[in-house]
Amino acid sequence: MGKSKFETKRLTVTLDDYVIEAAQKKAQIMFKGNLDYYINWLICNNNKQEIKKKIRGIQKAEERKKPTAIQNTEKTAMYNNTCVFCKQTIYQGDEICKAEGYENYIHKKCCRKGN
Ligand SMILES: [Zn+2]
Repeated sequence: MGKSKFETKRLTVTLDDYVIEAAQKKAQIMFKGNLDYYINWLICNNNKQEIKKKIRGIQKAEERKKPTAIQNTEKTAMYNNTCVFCKQTIYQGDEICKAEGYENYIHKKCCRKGN
């Protein structure tokens, strides 16, 4: 899924020894021993529709936070820079544009879609 912007929380669960052993074995094979990834994968697989709906909701909320692109300002970055919206690097060759409320060019992907 790449770098996730979703929040994480700690959850304590109680499991029988043999269940933990089985889970650790599976986590070793599937996720290099990362039990968190394995449990996450299990729950997502068992709740596909619900999880999909939740992710869509989170993504919609993220989209609403993005600024509106100023028309006809799209271009390809010539130099590496920093995007003031997401604070990540703009690499040479990335699509960039100007956006309402921002002095400098930002990632095109950091602008709201659909205009
Ligand atoms: Zn950005």
